Amino acid sequence: MTLPHHDIAIIGSGFAGSLLALACRQLGLRVLLLERGQHPRFAIGESSTPLANLLLEELASQYDLPQIAAFSKWGTWRRTYPFIRCGLKRGFSFFQHSRGKPFAPMPSRRNELRVAASPSDQIADTHWFREDFDAFLCDQARAVGVSYVDRIELETPVRTAAHWRLVGQRDHVKCGWTAGALFDATGPRGFLFRAFGLKEIRMPRLPATAALFSHFKNVPLWGDLHPSAERAPFPVDDAALHHLIDGGWIWVLRFLDGTVSAGVAACGAEAQRFNFNSGASAWRRVLSEYPSIQRQFEHAEPIRPFGHMASLSFQCETLSGDHWAMLPSAGGFVDPLLSTGFPLALLGILRVAGIVRDQFGRRNFSESLEQHARITRCELLAAENLIASLYTAFDDFELFTNLSLLYFAAASFSETVRRLGRPELAGGFLLHDHPVHGPRIAECCALARDLAKPREARDPARKHLLHLIQDTIRPINVAGLADSTRRNWYPVNLEDLYAAAPKVRATHQEIDAMLARCGLTPRHGEPGSPADSVNLEADRS
Ligand SMILES: Cc1cc2nc3c(=O)[nH]c(=O)nc-3n(C[C@H](O)[C@H](O)[C@H](O)COP(=O)(O)OP(=O)(O)OC[C@H]3O[C@@H](n4cnc5c(N)ncnc54)[C@H](O)[C@@H]3O)c2cc1C
Repeated sequence: MTLPHHDIAIIGSGFAGSLLALACRQLGLRVLLLERGQHPRFAIGESSTPLANLLLEELASQYDLPQIAAFSKWGTWRRTYPFIRCGLKRGFSFFQHSRGKPFAPMPSRRNELRVAASPSDQIADTHWFREDFDAFLCDQARAVGVSYVDRIELETPVRTAAHWRLVGQRDHVKCGWTAGALFDATGPRGFLFRAFGLKEIRMPRLPATAALFSHFKNVPLWGDLHPSAERAPFPVDDAALHHLIDGGWIWVLRFLDGTVSAGVAACGAEAQRFNFNSGASAWRRVLSEYPSIQRQFEHAEPIRPFGHMASLSFQCETLSGDHWAMLPSAGGFVDPLLSTGFPLALLGILRVAGIVRDQFGRRNFSESLEQHARITRCELLAAENLIASLYTAFDDFELFTNLSLLYFAAASFSETVRRLGRPELAGGFLLHDHPVHGPRIAECCALARDLAKPREARDPARKHLLHLIQDTIRPINVAGLADSTRRNWYPVNLEDLYAAAPKVRATHQEIDAMLARCGLTPRHGEPGSPADSVNLEADRS
């Protein structure tokens, strides 16, 4: 029997599968998108970052997808799609908690860190309410002519001489298709991992971690419980808020409709001690040990069943083959700590879409997919490297802060050079491939992991590491980070960017032009003129 043929088949219609389908369809190809579930559906993983938003913009512009571009900023999202729920993310906030003790703000701010990601609400990042967002993207894919089939249980795909043969059951009715190439966007331990019987390999440096999470209502603002007399870089709850605890951390992400996404990720021993797989009662046990977090969730009600992931990190040994490849989130996952999931997924989508555009139907297609797989693995390991070092520092907030500033420095440097049109200066995700900065960041992370020894023995090495981190950050610091006078609060100050122009090999005029493209008021290239003053509150909608 002849089955209907498509050029590209994509399995999994989360945001990644649908975006790839949209891009491939814009190339004029026949695209099939297959989904086991049905939209709208819950998905975890909600907090975006400046790099993720920039990549979304790049995807929209390269594949003529204006309907996607609006999602890259809070302001345009709210104006264009007020019916698609989202949350405002102006930056990252971290608070250190000690078991059994209430959180007490300090004048030195030694137990908190706030790093702004944007200078105003209008151009800020967002938390994606995935139920709405993913359903919308899938609808958009259908609207441009992608063939979409949901509620499908697929059998193992078979590669014939000419194409892939995909067969499955929908409502007990057998159906099938053929396709030239196959992409897996079904997330960790997903479809091809199981169907092809692929091998899982351990993340080499990260401890085994688990997570427990839900959506809540009636969660008061942390900023109301702990008001600050000083002018903060951004309202602390308009952020990805992190509470650091022993052996793990809790995230709190707020959506505009009052829904709060919260969960805990922790090392295996802590997850076991709290018995994460017991759901709501484990959540209550975690909170009961940290009085200030418990207070924030005192009257909170979960509005959906708790989700539990017994093993967060994942890496598949094989990420591509003859006319097939996995998107990054199907190939591996580290931990949500630095919100690296979206940028990694989007980097992968851009890569795969580029390969389809340039190589589909040509001899080098599978070879190019193999190259995509190699880069995917390196990017995953770069994220793992930083996150694993942070996992060793939950009980040493000064070190945690310094290590996380490595991430913020690398991320803001990469974003800036990309926005300046010089991505080659970044050397891959988190600069991992940069000949100088990549190895230096890796060395800091390795030293941090080696510090996990008795405290008395580690002081000289720790001191050396803190210096090394400062030295590593300096040449890539475009955001005024690691400045002790700022006492762990880092607003976006455009003057820092102008001062860092030589590091990104840009003139002040080029910085002006870049800021204007971002919707910010540039300084018009007058060195020495006063810093652009950014009104933090003016554009609050
Ligand atoms: C606890 C947690 C918190 C996270 N927080 C963040 C964060 O704040 N920021 C961030 O950047 N990243 C975060 N991530 C990562 C983020 O969730 C992923 O990067 C993102 O969800 C990947 O999207 P996706 O579309 O590739 O996959 P998914 O969203 O997982 O979608 C996969 C789709 O494939 C479908 N599917 C599965 N199996 C089959 C099958 N056999 N056949 C057909 N269809 C199938 C599913 O139904 C689903 O619709 C987090 C991850 C976890 C686990």
